[in-house]
Formats: sequence, C-alpha cells, structure tokens
Amino acid sequence: MKLTFLGTGTSHGVPVIGCTCSVCRSDDERDKRYRCSAYLEDGDSAFLIDVGPEFRVQALRAGISKVSAVFVTHSHADHLNGLDDLRVFSHTRAVDPSFPQKNNETHGSGLRIYADSNCIRDTKNRFDYIFTPVKEGGGKPKINLVDVAPYGKDNPIREGQLEIIPVPLMHGSLRVTGYLFIKKISGVKKSIAYLTDCSCIPQSSIDLIKSCCGTPDHLVIDALRREPHSTHFNFEQALGCAQVLNPVHTWFIHMTHNMSHVQVERYVSSRLEDYPVLKERVRTGGSVGPAYDTLFIEC
Ligand SMILES: [Zn+2]
Ligand SMILES: [Zn+2]
Ligand SMILES: [Zn+2]
Repeated sequence: MKLTFLGTGTSHGVPVIGCTCSVCRSDDERDKRYRCSAYLEDGDSAFLIDVGPEFRVQALRAGISKVSAVFVTHSHADHLNGLDDLRVFSHTRAVDPSFPQKNNETHGSGLRIYADSNCIRDTKNRFDYIFTPVKEGGGKPKINLVDVAPYGKDNPIREGQLEIIPVPLMHGSLRVTGYLFIKKISGVKKSIAYLTDCSCIPQSSIDLIKSCCGTPDHLVIDALRREPHSTHFNFEQALGCAQVLNPVHTWFIHMTHNMSHVQVERYVSSRLEDYPVLKERVRTGGSVGPAYDTLFIEC
C-alpha cells in the first residue's frame, strides 16, 4: 500500500486567508496545508479518503488518473465539498483509453462512496442535484453511496486486495468514521489506520483496531494544535492515542497555522520522554511527527 497525503491542514487550510503570521508566510513548502485528504494506491486499485474543496488541484498536483472507490469520514465541508469533481471518475469507463466518449456518464453503477448514514443523508441534501433525475448524461457525477454500517471486523469492506474496517470516532458530539486499511501478504498483515477529526476514540474502537491488526504500521491521526479544542485532538491527545495503539509510524494531520512543520517536529521530539512506547518506536526505526502535503508512506 502507498498512501499519499493530498492535504494535511485544518478546515481553514494553511495559509489562512488574510493571515500574516509567520507560518502563513513561510517559504517551507511543508507549511502549505490543503484540506485533509489522502490517496491510497495498491496494485490496480486506487482509493480516495475524503474529497475536500481542493480535490481538483490536489488531484492535478498528485497526477491522479484513477479512483476505484472513495472513503468519506464525515460531511463537514473540508472533507466532502469537492464531491462534484469526482465526475471524471464516476463511471466505469473513466480510465478507459478511449475516454472521453459521448455520454460515458450513463454507463456503470457509479463510483462507490463509503460513508456512514449521517454523512449519506447530508450528501444527498447538499448535492441534491446529483440525486434528482432531471437529465441523462454529463454534468453531474454518478455515485453509489454505500452505508458502512453493515461492515466490521467479521465483515470487512473488500476492495481490490484490501480489507477495510470502518472505525467509529467521536468528533465533539458528532459520530464520524475512521478507516483501517489492511493488506495480507503471505499471512502477514500490513495496516494503515486513518483517524481524522476526532476528539475521542471510544475504547471499543481502540479494541477493534488492535483486534484487527495488532499494532498498525502507520497511524494517521487528527492533531490540530498544541492547545486543547472541543472537537479535535490536540498534540498531547494525539500522542496519547499513539501511545495506546503503538503504531510503527505516527503521522499528525489536520494541523492549524499555529506551528510550522519544523516547530511541530521539535515539539513532538521534546515530548517523547513522557511517551515511552513512542520513544522506543523512534529508537528502533519508527517515527512520530507531522505529515505534510505530497508526502507518501508505504507498507
Ligand atoms: Zn476537518
Ligand atoms: Zn497564519
Ligand atoms: Zn470535521
């Protein structure tokens, strides 16, 4: 599996419109954070995690020409509002060499978009024109919303060679969905846990992740800023979560403009003394730190 970070910033993105702080004016490319999204490639399959308002530019920057299915965490604008730009991937022949052909949009069952029932309801409301049968052909994506509720440890989502387990998270009082991606290679499990926009991970979800993959190879975790926040993990909470899940590598995402990439790296290093599990991981070749846009990780 190869996961490319398309965006690692909070809902404002970084730089923030109109802000003149040192991070928003930074020349370090790693301080430019689009809204959170990731692209996961495995063999012939390619998956998108969230589809925010910058999806088009993210896709062009990353050279994306294929999306087999989409996993949406929740319906907040920074994670969903690029949905219309999935049009080019939303019919089965989108990556056919003969593309574009007239009315390709009417072929196939549509692009599978996995989400929970709240997110599906919000998607139908916000993008009502997509679901209103007013005309055939182009102009709107053809999508197939799939409720993740029936799926779990004993009944994972199967896409390509992967098993994907939805992981319930709490984002303030809103229930959202993280995803655990697992690939079995010769009996060995490779895994990436993608847990964004959370202020609490229920014990049952911690147990679910551990029972499905032991310790993840990669944990991608909401880590907004140093200061506390009502609906997001701050850095300490993200480190605390990593300490419990014990991944080989931990990657912070959904970061604000409060700290530069280098400052977050320094902060994490300075805190490892209080997180012995993570300190040991770093000592033995693992890592803990901020992700940045265009970074890719593999396992
Ligand atoms: Zn968000
Ligand atoms: Zn700023
Ligand atoms: Zn959110």
